Amino acid sequence: MTAETCMTCDNSSDEIGGETIEESDETRAYGIPTGFICDECLEESAEEAKEYPSIPLNLSGCPSAEQAAKELHNFLIELHPDYESEISLYSPKEAEKRYSGTAAWTVVWEGGSPSEWGLNLTSGWPMSYKEFPESSSGSPEVVGLVDNPNWEVQNHYSFDIEFHEK
Ligand SMILES: [Zn+2]
Repeated sequence: MTAETCMTCDNSSDEIGGETIEESDETRAYGIPTGFICDECLEESAEEAKEYPSIPLNLSGCPSAEQAAKELHNFLIELHPDYESEISLYSPKEAEKRYSGTAAWTVVWEGGSPSEWGLNLTSGWPMSYKEFPESSSGSPEVVGLVDNPNWEVQNHYSFDIEFHEK
């Protein structure tokens, strides 16, 4: 067997074990390196993975617009903890007064990655669909957004999602 070199460090499979990581929704969403990864690096990424939310977030069983908006807000923060201060949740009153003029539970991430993340998700695509069309084979990070019996979603801009009670 030929020796393989770890994709993250320079360890060779001759010296240390490892395994080949296939591309998946998680590797795409979290930027996890794929290919041969040595045991040392695998251990490190397993530690980091404990912090990740599981994907996709499924909102189909969510009973109210408020809960759906709160779950999406939490999920985005867990997915992108470095941007916590930029990812906002507005109650219907706050959204009407300070954001869109529309009284609806609203999740806003203006500097989102990419900024069309909200529109992409409500279209049933991965958040990065338009910026990285090659990732269109990936599944959306959030499912169950449309066709909920209790609430419906709309976008005010492309970087937000409004949840309206039906
Ligand atoms: Zn390594």
